[in-house]
Amino acid sequence: MIYKLGFIAALSTLLVRFIISANSGVQFFDFTSFTLLESIFYLLSFVWVLLSIWDKYFRTRCPNCNSAPVSLIDKEELKRWEEIKQERQQRGPPDTPEFYNVDVIVTMVTMKFLFKCENCKHTWDKDNDIPLDIQEA
Ligand SMILES: [Zn+2]
Repeated sequence: MIYKLGFIAALSTLLVRFIISANSGVQFFDFTSFTLLESIFYLLSFVWVLLSIWDKYFRTRCPNCNSAPVSLIDKEELKRWEEIKQERQQRGPPDTPEFYNVDVIVTMVTMKFLFKCENCKHTWDKDNDIPLDIQEA
């Protein structure tokens, strides 16, 4: 619930800044005129907004009741394989670097994650491909 208020945090930040700039005559986006307290307030609002976005779009939710408190109850490796990929590497002195494309062997795993909803006790699983290790070919 608290995450949903992120947009209010963003709005109140703009409002506070508007009042301050209107009262003191400084430019709205003049960052150098921020006081320490203001900066802390803006930073907290910014983090809050990021949390709201994470909560709305990236958080794992129950597919049954759409509730957010879920727990990871098990994980299992399904398969493991190797892929050849190209990686850009820098060589030579830092002021005149040279770049190379180097073949690397990436060890990938498919993990099966088992989740359980804290609200309705529904369980479901989700497969994810994860890079485990990178070695030069
Ligand atoms: Zn649920």
